[in-house]
Amino acid sequence: MLNNTQDNAPTRSALLDESVWEKSTFNGRWRSTRESLIVTEPATGERLGSVGACAPADLDEVVAAARNGQTQWAAWTAEQRAALMRRAAAILEQDREAIIGMIIRETGGVRGKAEVELQGTIDELIHSAAILIGPEGHLLPGTHPARLSFARRVPIGIVGVIAPWNFPMLLAMRSVAPAVALGNAVILKPDPQTPIVGGALLARMFELAGLPEGVFSVVNGGADVGEALVTAEGVRMITFTGSTAVGRRVGELAGKNLKKVALELGGKSPFIVLDDADLEAAASAGAWGSFLHQGQICMASGRHIVQRKVAADYLALLAAKAKALPIGDPYRQQVAIGPIINDRQVARVQQIVDDSVAAGAALLAGGTHEGRFYRPTVLGDVKPGMPAYGLEIFGPVAPVVIVDDEEEAIRIANDTEYGLSAAVQTGSLERGLRVARRIRSGLMHINDQTIHDHAGIPFGGTGASGNGSRFGSPTNWDEFTEWQWMTLSSEPARYPF
Ligand code: NAD
Repeated sequence: MLNNTQDNAPTRSALLDESVWEKSTFNGRWRSTRESLIVTEPATGERLGSVGACAPADLDEVVAAARNGQTQWAAWTAEQRAALMRRAAAILEQDREAIIGMIIRETGGVRGKAEVELQGTIDELIHSAAILIGPEGHLLPGTHPARLSFARRVPIGIVGVIAPWNFPMLLAMRSVAPAVALGNAVILKPDPQTPIVGGALLARMFELAGLPEGVFSVVNGGADVGEALVTAEGVRMITFTGSTAVGRRVGELAGKNLKKVALELGGKSPFIVLDDADLEAAASAGAWGSFLHQGQICMASGRHIVQRKVAADYLALLAAKAKALPIGDPYRQQVAIGPIINDRQVARVQQIVDDSVAAGAALLAGGTHEGRFYRPTVLGDVKPGMPAYGLEIFGPVAPVVIVDDEEEAIRIANDTEYGLSAAVQTGSLERGLRVARRIRSGLMHINDQTIHDHAGIPFGGTGASGNGSRFGSPTNWDEFTEWQWMTLSSEPARYPF
């Protein structure tokens, strides 16, 4: 028999108990704060929860806790650290459904996106445990028979991680997990729009997994707290994922303060359709590349570059797909397109579309919105100089540029300061490789679209998309450790004076 008594209410898991964080932040223990940061659900505009807010001055205490924690943690064996990372992964596994629900509600992404984000986060933890199986250094040729000479990798110390809101859990964790596993302490600053799945939940996960106090901390706030983290004495490395404009500022501050910095920034990724491509497959890939998560992905297909011979057919297929995609609240309805993160971003997308149409682009689908729900949009006849040609849009817009031949396709693909991801569709692998080899991009896919990532690949961009860092085991060794040369002699060295 069904009843509604308290006894039958589902028990709240230890991981997802929001009373732990709604007025607190975490630096090894939960500390209550004077102010709270309110989190709203982008689809409804309603309050979803809150976390404790930090001020720049709080960094002193957080860094002190991290210093103590890191010293203890670096003394754990690799095996012990790996076991803890696996325990953290198991804690997320246990609450899979509830976490997916929170990701959908806080980011406005559809269920499939949330599933990929959670699985990616779990994979980051598992890969960071696996990396610890590898050797930590190598033996060097000696210059003296009684001397052993070797190079070993040592933790950097305290690493600051600044993350965006679009994949808040995964993009935080792809730095946090390897940095922690390799013996560093981490201070994470999530985006203030997504501090629950992007911060509080991760803090709770590490706490429940038994990470020593101070090894992982979360500071909640905006640009002022971010800059305090970048400049804080004792924080030796910053990994930043976000816009190119803010990345330049973070890079400048880090350089001035002599810190190592890894920047993962914006993109305008080319998606090339050659005249021998399977057009149905290309249009499906192109729609996915531009409309997934409402286009709010750094690797989104930002420019469709299509050979003239197939352009009319490709545009018709792409526009038909755009018009057919269901839009709505992804937590309460079965949809393909959810809301844009905030009203400011909706207005920006609309401005780029309107200005491009005014400059001569053809509006073939979408181009309007209802509140935060922007309709998937296809712009034909996009030309250099139009806003949709040059700017990263971060909305569900597919700008299509028509080209005469391969040479022009390559030139347009490289006509951007960015270089994150790229894709080419063709019936000939040879043509695909010929084009792909000449495109300046950190990630490149033949007969696919531009959005791909997983824990084992070297992820990163070039140009205005990043400063050459690459995340993903085994490149994480290079990012999150430093080399130390050590020699060891059985006899004291003797010198001429
Ligand atoms: P954003 O740059 O506005 O914010 C990112 C983070 O930086 C947030 O946590 C924010 O609070 C913080 N921040 C803002 N100003 C700061 C400052 N002065 N000092 C320190 N921290 C500061 O980016 P966004 O709009 O939230 O995210 C979208 C952008 O991120 C897009 O350009 C997208 O392409 C990029 N992105 C890149 C990747 C990648 O891997 N290359 C992944 C996701 C998103």
